[in-house]
Amino acid sequence: MKKRRKLYEGKAKILYATDEPHLLIQYFKDDATAFDAMKRGVISDKGHCNNQISARLFCVLEKNHIPTHFVKRLGEREMLVKRVKIIPLEVTMRNIVAGGMSKRLGLDEGKKLKQPVLEYHYKSDALHDPLINDDHILVLGIVREKELDLIKEMSFKINKVLRRFFGQRNLELVDFKLEFGRFKKRILLADEISPDTCRLWDKKTKQKLDKDRFRRDLGNVKEAYKEVLKRVL
Ligand code: UDP
Repeated sequence: MKKRRKLYEGKAKILYATDEPHLLIQYFKDDATAFDAMKRGVISDKGHCNNQISARLFCVLEKNHIPTHFVKRLGEREMLVKRVKIIPLEVTMRNIVAGGMSKRLGLDEGKKLKQPVLEYHYKSDALHDPLINDDHILVLGIVREKELDLIKEMSFKINKVLRRFFGQRNLELVDFKLEFGRFKKRILLADEISPDTCRLWDKKTKQKLDKDRFRRDLGNVKEAYKEVLKRVL
């Protein structure tokens, strides 16, 4: 599949057109940002790791009847995806307290939640992605009620599948962020699932194997991404 015009460049990925109007090439960069892009850096080989990890996880989800935008992996840093219209929501699922939830609610990081917690952020750079609830989503007209129910149902199912998958590889899925898109009247899981968008801790040692190593200057960032790749392949 030939790579054509660059359509969009984000913080960690680039989208290119192809000769097929319904398909795009998603290219994974090594660039990393954190704290609303206040912190910037490069994690060498991140793009390669995230592409392979995302491809593997999308395949696992598809096998579990979760529709995704993933078509196939094209090379080290690229995957072919369906051209969705991204819904401006960041859907966060949490199994263990960390990051924003720990700060917002004054809970200790590492506390196991008695049930998964779903949160939504409105994707808006100008507003710094504010936390919103179901009513905000409906009032803003981001999606209709039926679509929101579907997004919710898919998110809990994705959590179940991914927790089991990572658990079998000695990884604790602490929390993660999802994005969905519209494709021919359907809602598909889109974007990526990688150590950039998930918190993953080694089950035994509790070592962080995700972007928190970059956010918090913990060192061995590249090694953590490589370790996750090794475990999921
Ligand atoms: N996350 C993400 N993109 C964002 C914000 C968060 O992928 O713009 C992921 C993050 O890696 C973590 C989960 O969403 O796995 C929950 O993040 P949180 O809300 O705790 O925010 P943070 O700690 O990143 O401020």
